[in-house]
Amino acid sequence: MSRAKKIAVLPGDGIGPEIIDEAVKVLRQVEKVFGLSFEFQFAMVGGGAIDRAGTPLPQETLELCKKSDAVLLGAVGGPEWDENPPELRPEKALLALRKELGLFSNLRPVVLYEGMEKSSTLRPEVIAGVDLIVVRELTGGIYFGEKTRQKAEGGEEVATDLLIYYEHEIERIVRLAFQIARGRKKRVTSVDKANVLESSRLWRTVANRVAREFPDVEVEHMLVDNCAMQMVRRPADFDVIVTENMFGDILSDEAAILTGSIGMLPSASLGEGSFGLYEPVHGSAPDIAGQGVANPSATILSAAMMLRHSFGYEEAAGAIENAVKHVLSRGYRTPDLATHGQMAVSTEEFGDRVVEEL
Ligand code: ATP
Ligand code: MG
Repeated sequence: MSRAKKIAVLPGDGIGPEIIDEAVKVLRQVEKVFGLSFEFQFAMVGGGAIDRAGTPLPQETLELCKKSDAVLLGAVGGPEWDENPPELRPEKALLALRKELGLFSNLRPVVLYEGMEKSSTLRPEVIAGVDLIVVRELTGGIYFGEKTRQKAEGGEEVATDLLIYYEHEIERIVRLAFQIARGRKKRVTSVDKANVLESSRLWRTVANRVAREFPDVEVEHMLVDNCAMQMVRRPADFDVIVTENMFGDILSDEAAILTGSIGMLPSASLGEGSFGLYEPVHGSAPDIAGQGVANPSATILSAAMMLRHSFGYEEAAGAIENAVKHVLSRGYRTPDLATHGQMAVSTEEFGDRVVEEL
């Protein structure tokens, strides 16, 4: 057996601890079934950390993450901390973690599982077969470029945000997208606004250069406005979508509605090498916290992404995904997904079913 993989577990606030419990339970089962070994170390993050340590990201938590092989995070935030000053907001911990850990990519797979067509607000025939992944650049672009705000002549205010990308920033995210495509349907859609933006023209040049390293992967370029439209018109045609920070922010939220429930969507944030941070797309859901009704699927599926991307345990990752799929197809649903005739189960029971399935 190889060295135990060190996993930093940050449950956070709201439903965070409840859904993390289920993901850890599933990982413990994976250890048994696949003969793997994980070392879990828990730490504070978010609102709870503000209350107990005076900061959303305590130094010990950051250090634990840095010496771990991967981070599994629940969710942070809640109404208790909404009025806090910016540096004492729970969400600050997420931005600080991404930056400190050099996580320049965000991966959001969007998969419509069998029998879930009715959960979406879109027509079943439109979303049938949706299985795509949005690869978003996370540490560059307009979010991080220089910002100015000043009085212009005549007294009105003027503000600017610089959209800046270096070749190396584009290259590493596009290469990651192509590598991911190789394990999927081998199709990359690179999204930009090259008819208007110079940074997009550079993006396209670099994307074409990287594409030459992957002759087995098909590449198409799409303008972001068109992509936004195609995503709700023929979403099943997409495989891997790669794009810059702001376009990715918008498109990944748009993609999220294709499957209907936010409780189903996992994510991974990756940097150089195998290290990564894994968390559900949803937030801390304070409205249902402590009731044992949260859907743990997004967190369990995030754990599967961790096995795949950080540890290379593809078989175990696929087994978790299949287990969730089977539990759902047998009709077990947490209340967010349960419709007439289906068994509404608790967070814990859903986790138990996934363990059983494994
Ligand atoms: P954040 O700003 O942290 O993203 P938010 O208020 O925008 O938080 P969520 O915390 O994701 O959003 O909650 C949005 C809605 O989705 C809430 O009604 C919440 O109860 C529901 N929700 C979120 N996650 C889950 C889950 N895992 N299971 C069931 N319902 C969920
Ligand atoms: Mg939100």
